Amino acid sequence: MEIKHNPCCHYCEDKNHIRRHGKSRVGITRYLCTACNRTFQTNYIYHGNEDEIHRLIKKLLDEGKSNFDIAAQLGVGLNMISRHTLILANESEEIISS
Ligand SMILES: [Zn+2]
Repeated sequence: MEIKHNPCCHYCEDKNHIRRHGKSRVGITRYLCTACNRTFQTNYIYHGNEDEIHRLIKKLLDEGKSNFDIAAQLGVGLNMISRHTLILANESEEIISS
């Protein structure tokens, strides 16, 4: 998926201090947020890297954003959003039943 605009920061959600920060060994574009001085990427291969994304998706869904809006804002694929909404649905079921 080619991204026309820089995604927002996956940590502080800043949109105005994002710049490209080279590529990882596997060719994934990395971004640097100069607001919080952290780097992030929009293609996640390892589940361990997705904690921040999961938190953000949950927050944006709570704000009433659509899957498409969230994908565009974070610069990630729609399939990734779907995967996380599924996990979130399971999580809320657990809360209801307990
Ligand atoms: Zn940031």
